[in-house]
Amino acid sequence: MPWICPSCSAETELGYNVCSKCQTPRPGSEEGAGDFKLGDDNLITIAADFLGHIGIVVVAELVIPWLLNYLLGIPLLLGVLIVFAFFGAVVFYLSRRDGSKETNAD
Ligand SMILES: [Zn+2]
Repeated sequence: MPWICPSCSAETELGYNVCSKCQTPRPGSEEGAGDFKLGDDNLITIAADFLGHIGIVVVAELVIPWLLNYLLGIPLLLGVLIVFAFFGAVVFYLSRRDGSKETNAD
């Protein structure tokens, strides 16, 4: 059974939460779009984000020192320190950039 759009009076199948003609959300539907979407503050999104960051660091700490050792003969421990220094420099740069942005907003 289709529903009637309150905006343009067009009929849309019940499976869709937006009007097929003018994209007006179906009355009683939450966001409008029928597809399920996670917010940025959702626990699953935060966990996935966290695991993603951990994964990048773990891969970097395992693969880059190994590559440096394999390709350039740099000791593994030195490679780990190089990766730490690189990530430290990136975080330092990003934090400084964010800080300057905050002072500009004043
Ligand atoms: Zn409509």
